[in-house]
Amino acid sequence: MTARMTQALDPGLYIVATPIGNLGDVTLRAIETLRGVCVIACEDTRVTGKLLRHLGIKVRMVRYDDHASEADRQRLVETMQAEPVALVSDAGTPLVSDPGYRLVREARAAGVAITSLPGPSAAIVALTLSGLPSDRFLFAGFLPGKAKARADALAELSGVPATLVFYETAPRLLDSLAAIGNALPGREVAVARELTKRFEECRTGSAAELAAHYAAHPAKGEIVLLVGPPGEAEPPGEADVDALLKAALEKTKPSQAAAEVARLTGLDRKTLYARALELRER
Ligand code: SAM
Repeated sequence: MTARMTQALDPGLYIVATPIGNLGDVTLRAIETLRGVCVIACEDTRVTGKLLRHLGIKVRMVRYDDHASEADRQRLVETMQAEPVALVSDAGTPLVSDPGYRLVREARAAGVAITSLPGPSAAIVALTLSGLPSDRFLFAGFLPGKAKARADALAELSGVPATLVFYETAPRLLDSLAAIGNALPGREVAVARELTKRFEECRTGSAAELAAHYAAHPAKGEIVLLVGPPGEAEPPGEADVDALLKAALEKTKPSQAAAEVARLTGLDRKTLYARALELRER
């Protein structure tokens, strides 16, 4: 296929989803559109440049990220009125925890024709892999980084009768699992990691089980964290609690192990301490 075999595109904004890891996931329509536009607005020209090189496409890129000014947006909207412009993000679907919302809003207000080309989004890939109920889900973006704000956000979501989907980073995974164990006890949780890539993994269990696993095997790469709806799972059983205590006892003394597991499960610390002593005796 030559670079300009495709039909000329009408002026407007083309929102183009791109792969989240596996370049094979780019759609035929995305390729045609990226090849046919006059300008590609992207978060990082190095990241998008790599994708374009892979696809053999040479189109001018302009940076459009969270720091874009009102003037940058106005310029882009004016360009869309005369020429086809694509919007992509570093990976996945633009606007989904990525820049673009204000641009689309202003383009709509200016009467620009807008088309959105569907493709990969980590939230949907994770939801479909997790085995958690998918009839109703709430995508909540990234949880706040600070403990109090994170606990407040989870408390606010605790009554929502739907699977909750969060974007997460590896360094914050254990804190988030602990917060979920506290705020949403007894829920089934899934950690979906490195989706569409070589080391793709989707692990399910209670927040406490997953915290014990990832404390022992630190998670790497990109992560989606999912929490099943209320009433879908039992509170952690005796075997789960023992597994957590044993994992904690490998690193620390019984009182601290009990405190850690109490934080993860919401169970009584004194009872856990007594059980930790018993387990250590064995
Ligand atoms: N717009 C993107 C989308 O549609 O998926 C998401 C962009 S957001 C800035 C980046 C976050 O998405 C990562 O921190 C991670 O939580 C999630 N993510 C992106 N790619 C992923 C992958 N291959 N596996 C797991 N999570 C991924």
